[in-house]
Amino acid sequence: TTDTTLPSLDFAVTKNLAAVSPAQRAELLENPGFGTIFTDHMVDICWSVKGGWHRPRVQPFGPISLSPAAAVLHYAQEIFEGLKAYRHADGGIYTFRPDQNARRMQRSARRLAMPELPEEYFLQSLRELIAVDGAWVPEKADQTLYLRPFMFAKEAFLGVRPAHKYTYCLIASPAGSYFTGGVKPVSIWLSENYARAAKGGTGAAKTGGNYASSLLPQAEAYEKGCDQVVFLDADGNVEELGGMNIVFVKKDGTLVTPASDSILDGITRNSLLELAADRGLAVERRAVSLAEWRDGVASGDITEVFACGTAAVVTPIGALKGEGFEDAQPLGELGLSLREELTDIQYGRREDTKGWLY
Ligand code: PMP
Repeated sequence: TTDTTLPSLDFAVTKNLAAVSPAQRAELLENPGFGTIFTDHMVDICWSVKGGWHRPRVQPFGPISLSPAAAVLHYAQEIFEGLKAYRHADGGIYTFRPDQNARRMQRSARRLAMPELPEEYFLQSLRELIAVDGAWVPEKADQTLYLRPFMFAKEAFLGVRPAHKYTYCLIASPAGSYFTGGVKPVSIWLSENYARAAKGGTGAAKTGGNYASSLLPQAEAYEKGCDQVVFLDADGNVEELGGMNIVFVKKDGTLVTPASDSILDGITRNSLLELAADRGLAVERRAVSLAEWRDGVASGDITEVFACGTAAVVTPIGALKGEGFEDAQPLGELGLSLREELTDIQYGRREDTKGWLY
């Protein structure tokens, strides 16, 4: 799926004449929160059966015009990605393993019967947006510019089949530090009434429907006083949280994480596990049953449990609650130590010996 002979796209750039002033931007970056502020521009590229990828544009951020019959609004042919741009001390702007996001988006596209955006175009779209909106990458510690590539079926057709027209789009949103006032352990609700994904389903794809179906169980988690929800598969094995993967640390330092075809292959998890392996720790990817988790915590065989993903990097899990039980979780140091190593690489405070920065 990587084609180095592809000619680069020739983006038509329309500058946003109503872009915010540097002073307004500085004010917005004071406390950006997450997901509500957007930069001045967006990138889009069209795809059609006849024309392939065409009409690459950089244009002012703004509403998208869509037929009410657009397939995405009816049959949910939609995929997305999420990654961050980091400002280094020398002013340079870097993204972290964007090739991995490009490839995962291609895998998501295959599962949703959508066209695959070539990796080169994905990377080029990031460069084009940063070229016009680079000033939006915050300089403050722990802040980032969150990048949201997505693709949807825009063909106006009510028949159920893969659409013949799609839009790939990239928008960006400055993000504040995830944990203000230090990393806080979260409590997790065990969802037993609802599943996120099924064997053979779309769980491994980053598609909107997976998140839509996680909202009700997440609401149940809040009702039960928990921060996040964890899902099981039909056999009672642990899968993942609504938007993060899960890792267990054993007494002997081994890291264990679920292997499953119905969870998202997290880039943060893969990176943390690689750093752990470099430290000489054993890493196991295999099924982890709920019983192994609960018994392991009770016996002291599991010494730490953490969740991981692009947004928070590593989040310690402090409690697991389910219908009729509540297990306090042991808090360890490994997750946070790996978190520091990873964020040091991302923010340029530690040498990128793996070529992860782009
Ligand atoms: N699982 C789900 C369901 C997610 O939405 C995410 C966030 N993309 C993750 C895991 C973690 O993936 P990553 O480390 O690539 O952000």
